[in-house]
Amino acid sequence: MTINLPLQAPSAAGLIWQTVRNENAKSPEEREAVLADPGFGNHFTDHMVDVCWSEKGGWHRPRVTPYGPIQLDPAAAVLHYAQEIFEGMKAYRHADGSIWTFRPEQNAARMQRSAKRLALPELPSDIFIESLKKLIAVDGDWVPSAPETSLYLRPFMFAKEAFLGVRPAKKVAFYVIASPAGAYFHGGVQPVSIWLSTNYARAGKGGTGAAKTGGNYASSLLPQAEAAEHGCQQVLFLDEGKYLEELGGMNVVLVYKDGTLVTPESDSILEGITRDSVLQLAKDRGHTVESRKVTIDEWREGAASGDIVGAFACGTAAVVTPIGRLLAEDFEIVHEGDAAAELALSLREELTGIQYGRVEDRHGWLLRLDA
Ligand SMILES: *Cc1c(COP(=O)(O)O)cnc(C)c1O
Repeated sequence: MTINLPLQAPSAAGLIWQTVRNENAKSPEEREAVLADPGFGNHFTDHMVDVCWSEKGGWHRPRVTPYGPIQLDPAAAVLHYAQEIFEGMKAYRHADGSIWTFRPEQNAARMQRSAKRLALPELPSDIFIESLKKLIAVDGDWVPSAPETSLYLRPFMFAKEAFLGVRPAKKVAFYVIASPAGAYFHGGVQPVSIWLSTNYARAGKGGTGAAKTGGNYASSLLPQAEAAEHGCQQVLFLDEGKYLEELGGMNVVLVYKDGTLVTPESDSILEGITRDSVLQLAKDRGHTVESRKVTIDEWREGAASGDIVGAFACGTAAVVTPIGRLLAEDFEIVHEGDAAAELALSLREELTGIQYGRVEDRHGWLLRLDA
């Protein structure tokens, strides 16, 4: 049997973008009312990006159109077999009014890796980045300016071919939508409680855990509900029943007494750009950073002996958040000392400082979107 995987698409050069303005765009007053208290993921801007892919035509018809419902054939493959991937990133407004994003080439590259795993076509990085600029060109006013607010950008791609056979779709859509964002966790940056899921996994060996795909989230919803029943905000998944994996939407980092930071390594972890950036900032400060397998027993024993002083979670939406407590069916780890939480918050401060243009961008991580 031969499997025809989608071909690598041509570059953005030569694609002609079309913009259709939203006649019913929110008025400046309506928009400001939303931006005053955006929450997370509740409100969307006036426009969206829409690019088509077909086996014959490659990437084509890139457009910016009014935000609104998508017409899909009920047989569209995504609705049946979940051939779908996405990205998550933010646009930040700097003090001078300019609009920037953070390491977008990393998101573009990750989306290509996700595409490969889900047998979707790889979107060239230049089209990915151009799509963000095109959306900001019409919806730039939606980037809020209050401290720690941003415009969350959600690129996504799905199989839209109407066909119930199981094979990679020959018609695919790429979209970008945007949603103004306030703080992710209610009550600001407080240490979170984590539930250890031992009955469920979000991914497995050889599965799709390293791809940013909706199915991983679908499988995390029930354990997440279990976490909530136990009074926890997030759920920690294990790999092979014993190694730390991740929270399902955020990566985990353990803080050791000597300042060493350890993050779990596994083929089923989604490689976070926040985690990579935070660990780079920690290295710059002289911390030892390790990426290796970590068992749940190492965390338990380290917390008991005082070798492990805390932990934090990181991801674009929540940035960096200290973990105060890990609750499991038959044990609990409580991190009460201030050292790890202070480190997490100071790394968070430095990272957001770079993103909002308050701290020098010495790694060249920012890209301007509105120019
Ligand atoms: C997006 C995501 C993360 C965090 O990645 P960032 O690039 O830091 O936002 C972590 N885990 C999963 C499963 C994710 O989907």
